[in-house]
Amino acid sequence: MTYPDTQLFIHGQWREAAAGETLAVFNPATGQEIGRVAHARTADLDLALEAAQKGFEVWRDTPAINRSKTLRAAAALLRERATDTARLLTLEQGKPLAEAKGEVLAAADIIDWFADEGLRVYGRIVPSRGNLAMRQMVLKDPVGPVAAFTPWNFPINQVVRKLAAALATGCSMIVKAPEETPAAPAALVRAFADAGLPPGVLGLVYGTPAEISSYLIAHPVIRKITFTGSTPVGKQLAAMAGQHMKRVTMELGGHAPVIVCEDADVALAVKTAGGAKFRNAGQVCISPTRFLVHESIASEFSAALVKHASGLAVGDGTAEGTQMGPLANPRRVSAMAEFTQDAVERGATLATGGARIGEAGNFWQPTVLTDVPLDARVFNDEPFGPMAAVRSFKTLDDAIAEANRLPYGLAGYAFTRSLKNADLLARRVEVGMLWVNMPAMPSAEMPFGGLKDSGYGSEGGPEAMDAYLNARSISIMNV
Ligand code: NAD
Repeated sequence: MTYPDTQLFIHGQWREAAAGETLAVFNPATGQEIGRVAHARTADLDLALEAAQKGFEVWRDTPAINRSKTLRAAAALLRERATDTARLLTLEQGKPLAEAKGEVLAAADIIDWFADEGLRVYGRIVPSRGNLAMRQMVLKDPVGPVAAFTPWNFPINQVVRKLAAALATGCSMIVKAPEETPAAPAALVRAFADAGLPPGVLGLVYGTPAEISSYLIAHPVIRKITFTGSTPVGKQLAAMAGQHMKRVTMELGGHAPVIVCEDADVALAVKTAGGAKFRNAGQVCISPTRFLVHESIASEFSAALVKHASGLAVGDGTAEGTQMGPLANPRRVSAMAEFTQDAVERGATLATGGARIGEAGNFWQPTVLTDVPLDARVFNDEPFGPMAAVRSFKTLDDAIAEANRLPYGLAGYAFTRSLKNADLLARRVEVGMLWVNMPAMPSAEMPFGGLKDSGYGSEGGPEAMDAYLNARSISIMNV
């Protein structure tokens, strides 16, 4: 299977950018250019905005049951095409094929869930205060055309969480998908187009991120912004949205603590958190990062984690048996080298990994650092790579204080056999999502989002629908 060039999708049509500009796409396993993606400028964005407004007017007035059928048809097409789409995803992003296929199938599941949830957008009738001739109603209406900005780590999943909720409520959406991984999100958009989504309801553009976001956020057609990416960029876009009084959902970075209590099942903790750490080569916003282990089991835990990490098969994501692929871009390789050097200079022990693999592609060894000092960068900035940083603690209060020390508050993990500990952690650890004695399971029906610098709003559960709805009060006197 060859890798296709990717076009823009505007008003129901695949097209080149008006000025004919394109950007190169690289395979992170080889460093070779594999294709091109169309680069939109203002002229293309104006067409996409006009289409999004027209598409919104059609989709808003489409009965929810019909919208739901279109969503379900798109999910079915995505499932049918899962193997081919997964291959595109691996070629441009690097993750192993099995992970890529899992991402595509999970996307179909998310679409189905929102297709059903869209049938239950109820308003309410509120009893009036005295005058029975007055009818008070709360109506839930779609906010309008939405601009979505999504990153390269989960090229399909990051789009579908936004898109499925927006379409289920009756919004239209322009997606600015990642230029580095454009073909997989285009395959997702194609499934919706082929399922019969009316023209304009969904647009897809690529280009210079800052140019597109500043134009779309300020534009009067756009009523809501949703962004997934780094905290610094999220803060810039939220500030811009504030200037234009646009509604916002922000799913930003994290720095997940993993608290392994004295009474934990160490083997379970290593298998679960270790597995999660190296999934997608650690380029996951909910990736476990700060491993806080009770001092009585710290050396046993670290030894087992090192064994797990050093045993992983790292290679091209398309090759049979690969457990961890390359990093998605050369920026992450440089970042891993800097994090490692900084930690070691500050006194951490490099227990395994810590070096680039080979010359071609963006491969980095699964890395475990132990006895990491609190001032090491890896304990403060999001590494976003295959790097676990371990430190021991004496009391659970100390571990909770460390978990809450950073401004991030996205995901957290804990391992304990004690209900009392689990309950305390649930109440005190400041994260939007906590998983105890289990891997992350961000299902469509559960809220997905962060606290503090990790953003606001949710991309799962009924809360994700609310993010695309306006509640309006209508009162009618029957005279
Ligand atoms: P980056 O901060 O430049 O970009 C992050 C994402 O934001 C990219 O998808 C990029 O296209 C987009 N972006 C950047 N500037 C933008 C703008 N002005 N308007 C709209 N979109 C913009 O850095 P990067 O090297 O691509 O990624 C590195 C960091 O980003 C990681 O260390 C991680 O912290 C974060 N990140 C987080 C997620 C997540 O799932 N929350 C995903 C990818 C990257």
